[in-house]
Amino acid sequence: MQFDFDGLIQVIANHLYSEKKVFIRELIQNAHDAIRRRARTDPGFGRIDIETHPQDLRITVRDNGIGMSKDDLVDYLSNIGKSFTRLQKEETEGLIGEFGIGFLSAFVVARHVQVRTRKLGENSGWVWENDGSKSYRLAPCDVSVPGTTVTVLLKEIEDRGLIQESEVRALIRKYADMLSVPIHLNGGHDPENTMHMPWEKAGLTAAELERDLTTYLERTLADSVLEPIPVRLHTPVRAEGVLYISRIRLLSVDQPRTIRVFQNRMFLCENATDVLPQWARFVNGVINTPDLTPTAARDNFIRDEQADQLRDTLGEVIIDHLDRLRQTHPERFTDIVRYHRLGFLAACYYYEAFFRRFAHLLLWRTNDRAIERGDPTRPGTAEMLRTLPEIIADIPHAPGETVRLACFTTASTASQYFDIANAAGGVVVNASYPYESELLEAYTRLPDVHVELAHVDRQDDPSFFRRLSPDEDSDIVRLAESMTLLLRTPAGAPIRTESRRFKPDDIAAVIRSDALSRAQQKAEEVRLDPNVSETLRQIAEELRQMTAQQSRRLTINANNPLIRRLARHDLTDRRVHDLMLAVYNNAILANQELITSQDAAIFHHQFQDLIGRGLDLLDAEGELQAIRDRLREDEERRRATTGRQPRHRIFFMITPFADHYRPLVQACRRVVEERWHAQLIVASDQQDDHRLLDNVELLMGQAHAFIAEITQANPNVMFELGAAFTDRHNRPFALLRERGVDPVLPADLRALLYIDYQMDDAGLEEHLHRELRKNTDIRSLVDDDGWARYLSPVRLRQLLPLVLDATIIERLAARFPTTADWESAETDHVAAILGKRDQDLAEPIITRVLHSGRP
Ligand code: ADP
Ligand code: MG
Repeated sequence: MQFDFDGLIQVIANHLYSEKKVFIRELIQNAHDAIRRRARTDPGFGRIDIETHPQDLRITVRDNGIGMSKDDLVDYLSNIGKSFTRLQKEETEGLIGEFGIGFLSAFVVARHVQVRTRKLGENSGWVWENDGSKSYRLAPCDVSVPGTTVTVLLKEIEDRGLIQESEVRALIRKYADMLSVPIHLNGGHDPENTMHMPWEKAGLTAAELERDLTTYLERTLADSVLEPIPVRLHTPVRAEGVLYISRIRLLSVDQPRTIRVFQNRMFLCENATDVLPQWARFVNGVINTPDLTPTAARDNFIRDEQADQLRDTLGEVIIDHLDRLRQTHPERFTDIVRYHRLGFLAACYYYEAFFRRFAHLLLWRTNDRAIERGDPTRPGTAEMLRTLPEIIADIPHAPGETVRLACFTTASTASQYFDIANAAGGVVVNASYPYESELLEAYTRLPDVHVELAHVDRQDDPSFFRRLSPDEDSDIVRLAESMTLLLRTPAGAPIRTESRRFKPDDIAAVIRSDALSRAQQKAEEVRLDPNVSETLRQIAEELRQMTAQQSRRLTINANNPLIRRLARHDLTDRRVHDLMLAVYNNAILANQELITSQDAAIFHHQFQDLIGRGLDLLDAEGELQAIRDRLREDEERRRATTGRQPRHRIFFMITPFADHYRPLVQACRRVVEERWHAQLIVASDQQDDHRLLDNVELLMGQAHAFIAEITQANPNVMFELGAAFTDRHNRPFALLRERGVDPVLPADLRALLYIDYQMDDAGLEEHLHRELRKNTDIRSLVDDDGWARYLSPVRLRQLLPLVLDATIIERLAARFPTTADWESAETDHVAAILGKRDQDLAEPIITRVLHSGRP
């Protein structure tokens, strides 16, 4: 068989290597292998020197390795596909070459390649030259020390960039950073490659190692590291390096990954995600292994059994690391799992193998039972993150017994269920995050796990919600029935209301979703799925509408004092209906997921209403206080007047209520009050004042004389007149009759004084004064000086030219009817009537009244 050299070079250049510059990598690899072979006898020996002369299109790679004999040059270097290195692999560890074609890559760019070499143990060397064809020249020559120098002269001037110093340096750092042989560039003192990796350093503490690994990763991979995971594997595959949990969060898009794979310390490839298990999307790293088989181009590895084994083993390394971290640094573990929560959950959900290994480490949100209710610094909604084994160990149960684990899967209900669980002294798991509800179910199916789930948001779990005894709580049951009839969702569906007893007492009601609302969610998912057929979507839409009718369930708490009070009210009252709605809204607020824009509008109105009613209450309270004050005053006065005769004279006037009689009443008042210094009480004036109406009987009893207007025989008048007559005690009566009006009554009412008057008479007052005095009983009463003088409100107003309210003046006059009363008046009593604003006037008012009241 023959081969075409140019054709082969074409294949290598265009179809094997993706980049021209890899020929430098191949020369470094050959130099490295030569040094390693020599190092079997000369340990710790060796150095590679690279010189670049871009001006001359020349690059030289020199090693002081084992060198080549004439036979080596002929049998291996010149023999394509034959590799001496491969044959040596058994004896020498860490050799990289094996295909016997790498050297050929120089001819992709070379016009001329020269190899000067002297084999270790020989006295002189050989020069091998080739201009890029099947034939080469081989001649003996002087080489001072063992080793090989390869010089490549570039063919094309545009390839000069490949051998720029900076390019070559970058190439060394990428491909040869881990090689344990120092590589010097253009005579530089320090090697360009790192050689010793941080995980290889002996005698580091765990913390130092972690710090070094983090620094190394962040410098070389330009990613930020959440948690480094050192890798040291011997069986079944060998590998070393460092993985790390990245700070880049898992998203649904393919986020950049940084996984570098080295084979025998020589860089192989980047972003080889399948060197790790699929679930480990939050892990990146640097892995060096001798056990992967590279492709001939050395830019990837063959997916063989070894690769599978490495991947699985690295998966174990990650889980073991997390397991240990959970034991040794639980807080740090929690932070990491919280940070990559969705990543871990998704990994568990999609990769059964990972779930089986990791399920016991997943963190779940539960209520924090250490929290006392009512502690404002630690709201009841505070959550704890714990693993399921920890949570289950905390639930009292006999060994081997199935544990009932309370959980809820509806989002945003955490606060209400946490409160309920805290109060009941129980624990409840919040499984509302994506995948959580499925994973919790899956956990119960794991071998050796004896757990049964109690969905408190769906089932009627008696440990949280106790049923009511019908006879004891019949009013609460009735309240629930009324609420079911009354309450509607914004969509118009009834809200099924049930009554239970649950803790804490201060939760009035909770909203629980049930299987139907889950069906509703599923229907919604189907409806929004673009790949679902139109018919299926329509069915989903119908299902959604149907289930929307029945999806809300309200549970009212018979332990709650407000509910108990509400249940005692008239359940048909419109205002009680408003309060039922308020109970429902209150429950919605604890379940923010359910708040729709309609709900928000309803809250708005209800709050406005509540504020309005609060204000009504405040106003009513003010009015009530005023009424209470006045009642107390009356009561006082009543107590003061009952049982003792007034010290001043009282005339009681009985008259129809009509406006027509007003001038008559006024004239009478002036006569009695201003001329005679007695008090005129007119029942009709005060008909709208209940306090006085109640007092009429009392006042009548105290009156010393009566004046009655009887012209029309007004029924009220006649009634009061009758009452006065039955209790007359010889008290004088005067009957007034309007002149010129047809009398209804007979002319004589036994021995009573009749006074005829004319309403529009200018001298009405004088007329009445004169006529009334004609009654001898009245006259002697009026002329008796032994009585205290009555101070009328009119008189009082004249005495007190102050800006006082008319009602205040009247109340003062009523409380202190005579000068004698004013003399014994206490400042406090006057001040109380004057009220806060004018209380300071009490003292001057008393002085003034007494001063000018004296005759
Ligand atoms: P590989 O490196 O895969 O063996 P190469 O084509 O790169 O294939 O090299 C072929 C052979 O040439 C090597 O196996 C080795 O025997 C020899 N060789 C190449 N470069 C050197 C060198 N610098 N020193 C010693 N031997 C070398
Ligand atoms: Mg090679």
